Order: sequence, then C-alpha cells, then structure tokens
Amino acid sequence: MTTDPEKRIVLGRYELKSQIARGGTARVYLARDSRLDRPVALKMLFPELSTDSSFVERFRREAQAAANLNHQNIVSVYDWGESENTYFIVMEYVDGRSLSSMLRAEGHLPLDEAALIGSATASALAYAHRHGVIHRDVKPGNVLITSDGRVKVTDFGIARAMGADDSLTQTGLVMGTATYFSPEQAQGHGADGRSDIYSLGVVLYEMAAGRPPFTGDTPVAIALQHVREDPPSLSSLVPDISPAYAAIVAKAMEKDPGARYASAGELADDLERFRLGKPVAAADVPTTVIGSSVQSEYTSVQPRYEEKIVSDDLPVARRRPIHVETKPPRSRTPIYAALIAVLIILLGIIVYAGGRGLGYFGAPVSFPVPNVVNQNISQAEQSLSAVGLKYNVTYLFNQASQGTVVNQNPSSGNIVSGGTVQLEVSKGSPMSQVPSVVGQQLSDAQQALKQAGFKVISQGVASNQPANQVLTQSPSGGKSLSTGDTVTITYSDPNASVVVPDLTGMSQSQAEFQLGQKNLSLGTTTQQASSSVPSGYVISTSPAANTSVAVNTQINLVVSSGPSTVTMPYVISQQSTTATATLQAAPYNFSVTIIQTLTCQADDGIVVKQSPIGGISISPGGSVIIYVGTSNPTTTSSQVTASTSSTSSSTTSSSTTSTTSANTTTTICP
Ligand code: ADP
Ligand code: MG
Repeated sequence: MTTDPEKRIVLGRYELKSQIARGGTARVYLARDSRLDRPVALKMLFPELSTDSSFVERFRREAQAAANLNHQNIVSVYDWGESENTYFIVMEYVDGRSLSSMLRAEGHLPLDEAALIGSATASALAYAHRHGVIHRDVKPGNVLITSDGRVKVTDFGIARAMGADDSLTQTGLVMGTATYFSPEQAQGHGADGRSDIYSLGVVLYEMAAGRPPFTGDTPVAIALQHVREDPPSLSSLVPDISPAYAAIVAKAMEKDPGARYASAGELADDLERFRLGKPVAAADVPTTVIGSSVQSEYTSVQPRYEEKIVSDDLPVARRRPIHVETKPPRSRTPIYAALIAVLIILLGIIVYAGGRGLGYFGAPVSFPVPNVVNQNISQAEQSLSAVGLKYNVTYLFNQASQGTVVNQNPSSGNIVSGGTVQLEVSKGSPMSQVPSVVGQQLSDAQQALKQAGFKVISQGVASNQPANQVLTQSPSGGKSLSTGDTVTITYSDPNASVVVPDLTGMSQSQAEFQLGQKNLSLGTTTQQASSSVPSGYVISTSPAANTSVAVNTQINLVVSSGPSTVTMPYVISQQSTTATATLQAAPYNFSVTIIQTLTCQADDGIVVKQSPIGGISISPGGSVIIYVGTSNPTTTSSQVTASTSSTSSSTTSSSTTSTTSANTTTTICP
C-alpha cells in the first residue's frame, strides 16, 4: 500500500487515507467516512473517462443498480458522486487482497480452493442476475478475498457505465485487456448473464492452470481467440487435473451461450458438488474436455479449418500444440484432404480477388464476401477492401450502436459479381421521451414503458406505499432516451424484506432516521453502560444488523449510557484484609494502597479512614487508599499518618480525604 502525498477530503465527508491500487480506469483509495466514522474504499475514475455526455447517466444508473445489491459475496456500494469532474464510488472496504494478486503470488490454486472461490463468485453473480444486473467485467481483479477467507465480488456493472460494451476497439482502450471477455462481448454483441458465466469460466481456468486460456499482444488478438479458438486443454497444463473440474470449466466456457450453464446458480451448484466429491452436472454433456469442436454462430469457419490443418501438419511448437480431440478416433484423412482442397480454392479466390482489386488481373469476375455484420463501419471497410470489394451504405435507425453494420447483401460466403456489397449501417436508436410512471400500478407502468419502446427492469422493494405502486424510475419521466434502452423502476413489494442497517455508533436520532429510510420502525430503547461507545450512541440492535426482516418491523436499540460506574463501598471499621479483598474484587477492581495510621490498640488492623469516601459513584478500576490503625507503628516504608480516634464517622473521613501530607498528632487512648 503506497501512501498518497495529497490528503484530501471528498464531498466534505470522505477523507482519503492512502492509495490502495491504481487500475486501468481508476484509483482506489482507503478513505474514512467521517460522518459514519468507518473505513470505506473510494474508487475515483480517471477524469478522461467522463467526457462522454451519456456517461454520467449510465454511471448513475449502474451505481444505483449495484447499490441495491445486498449479498454476502458482493461488495456493498454506499454512495457515488462527482467532485472536480471526477466520478467516484464509495464502497465497503474489503480488508484482504484480490484474486489477481493471489494468483500472481501463488501461481495457481488447489482445486478445492479454486472451486470455493468460484462458487462464491457464481452465487454473487446469480443474485445480481436475478436483480437485473449483469457484471460485465468478471476477472480476478474484481474478486476480493478477505483475510478470513470470505469472497467479495466488486465493480458490478461499472464496465457498462464506462461504455465497455460499445465496441471492441473502445473496450480494448478502456479495459486494457480482453482476457476475460466472452465471445459475444468480444464481438460487441449484447451481453447477458451467460456472458458473466463465460468470464467466470476463464477465471476458473486460470485458478487451476495458473495462466488464462488465451494470451496475446493486443486486446483484439485475445478477443479473436475467444471467438474462434479452443483453449489449451486443462489436462495438458495440469496433468492431474480432475476431469470433473475440467468439465465444469468447459461448460462455463462454451462459445455458444446456449450451451453454457443456464444460470450462474447452476454453475455455483456444480462447483459445490465438485467440492463435495459428488458427480457434477457438466460431466453429463458430451463436452467433457475443453477442446470439443462444437460449431457455433460465433465460430468463424475459415480460420478453424486452417487451424486444424496447421496444427496437425506442423511441428508442435508452431501453433496450438495442445488441441484435444474429444470425439472417438476415426479416419481423418479424407476429411482433411477435402478441407485442404477447400482451403486451397478459397485462398485462390482470395488471392485472385485481391489481385484484381489491385489491377493484377484482367476482367472482373466473382468474389467471396466476408461477413461484416456487427462490425463497425470502418472495420467493415477494411475487411471489404482487403479482398477488393466496394460497398454502398444505407443508414437506418437500429438498436445496434451507431456505426455498426446491421445487414449486408449479399451475405458472407456468397460470391458477388461486379464487386459491390450493400451495407445497412445503424445510426443508433431513435430517441423517445420516457413516460412518467411513478405512482402508477406496476403493470400499467410496464405497459406504458414498453409501448414507448423501452425495456423495463422492475425491482420490488420494501415500502410503506400500497402494494405494486411504482416508487421510482430511472431515467425519470420526460427525459429523452434511445428506444430499446432500459428504464429501471422500483415498486412497493409487500413481500420484499429489508436488511436491518448497521446503526452502531450513530446517535439515537440518526438511527431513527436511518430506520425510517429503510421502512423500519423504532422499537424499544434500552440503556447499557459502555466504555467504548459514547453516551447516547447506539451499541447494537435487535434484530441485529444485516438480518432480513419484513417492512415495518420494530427494531430495538441498545444505547450507551456512557462508561459504567460503581458505588464506592464503605470499608471503615472493617479488618484491613477484608476491606482490601472487597475493594480489589469485581465489580470494583480497585488497586488498594494501605497507609498505617497511629491509633489506639483497639483499632489495630482496622480501617479508620478511606479515600475516596464510601457511597459516591466512581468508575471501577481506579486507586483507593485505606488508612489502617496501628498502636505500635513500625518504622517500615509504609506511610503513617495520624488520625482522630474516631473510626466510624465518614464525615470526619471526608473532611480529611484530600490530605495527603503525613501529619502526626498525639493520640490519646482511653
Ligand atoms: P481492477 O479491477 O482492474 O483490479 P480496480 O481499479 O477496480 O482495478 O481495483 C484495483 C484494486 O483495488 C483491486 O484489484 C483491489 O485490490 C483494490 N480494491 C478495489 N475495490 C476494493 C475494496 N472495496 N476494498 C479494498 N480493496 C479494493
Ligand atoms: Mg475492479
């Protein structure tokens, strides 16, 4: 942890203590929330990222969605805001380290540990997906592990806020890595929960193998491998890998989202089965080892063929030496002969077409058209001109982001004569006004929003409002938004439970306010002594913080009455040993100093005076002096003071307690 030289206070509340890390998009600080007096992690996004005008809105939406996620394996988001053109997110501080630094330090992890981290992460994702939040940036840097081994996933949806989904190039720029991209993300397609499952598959792979499945010099190079290539089989990297674990990773990392686990919850369950040594569901499907050649819509045919031929024919070192064929052995010669023939023909056509574009050949003939759908128009231009084709562009409104090719004619693989391809390119979605639906019934609101062309995410929350009434919407009514974008609404859900907030250290009125905010009501208040919590502040609640309870549940507070006190006991006229024992024992726990005092014989060994006096309120554990009578003072080091012969009057004692100097008077005995 490096210490940041500039101590700053953000938004008058968060005091930056030290920099924890500097990532690709942000600095993360350990800070102190001065209002609630607790440590927080404060993530400050680099200002360059916030130049995009829609950024703020996306950022706010994602931060809000993430803030609503309440799960033991998810880092809580407390707050967000803007200060000096910099956006920041305030979140739970996790005292521990990231999985990425663990992997850096330890290489790879034992499989049961990997499965445990994987299943906790999958549970967090399952919960978020159920609440309509896709993570989009599952990677070891976003999996934090506390010093006592708990797993906490962070940065939900932040990648989306930063526009990482928009296109590969932008993603490459923003994220700096594509190591954990799903094939659909790599292609700039919309990502859903299954994309997170793929990314977690990559993390599971890396935890076992000590290296990610695909590496390369540029994000684009890595992304292309996610789309087209099979990862090296885990068994080739970890010879004694459990086939069940490898099967789980393979299923999570299927290129076709439909072939992956249907939900993150299923992945979590399978990892748990693996940990318990039970048969895993992934082993039921034909893909038992990474490397099955399942063809999917994400797979580009040509490089695959080329690849297989090369990897069979060339020495191992050249390319993907670890291609594992899972199908039963069969004679491959005729197939490969055919593939080579096809490849030679294709290459011939490409060379011819390219050459023709450059004017090397005579009359124009036919060209095979590459697939440019979903590419950005500038990429598409490159792909087409690389094979000597021209294009015409028509722009139209479409859900795809602006500049994306949404249609091509002829489609890929066909041969066009004349050399021109018609492209339809998206100019983005038309804008439409968001209807105002707050206060409406849920079903009416959903219908109104859908009719206006928006997708709707509805989230039930605990509230005092009538059941199913819409409480909030984002963006708010009247705002302009691209059709096809999502409007998030919350509605009053009588079955929603509320998590009891942690009120520790708040004043009673702050606590009451917080309870009101959460639709909880204040129950009884009990006073309890505390030396750590100042008087009037909350020590604990029942039900306890983080318990899920129904709306309007009464929460009882235990409030500090300040440090505890005891009443000083009277020990005058007791035997000095009895008195000392009483004073030293609980609840008093005093340290006792004995001062010998010259008295008549009758008072030998008897307490004749005490300081402080009996009957007053006092903190336990302090020091107390007792004056013990002696008629025959020894010349030891003990202090000797004279006293009146009266032994029982506390009034007398009290009048002399402050006397610390030893004064001797003549004692007259009866
Ligand atoms: P990345 O996710 O690429 O690692 P981030 O900027 O998101 O980059 O985070 C950088 C590092 O800061 C993380 O790897 C982690 O070590 C640390 N970090 C992030 N969030 C927290 C948090 N809530 N508590 C403690 N440390 C955190
Ligand atoms: Mg992160």
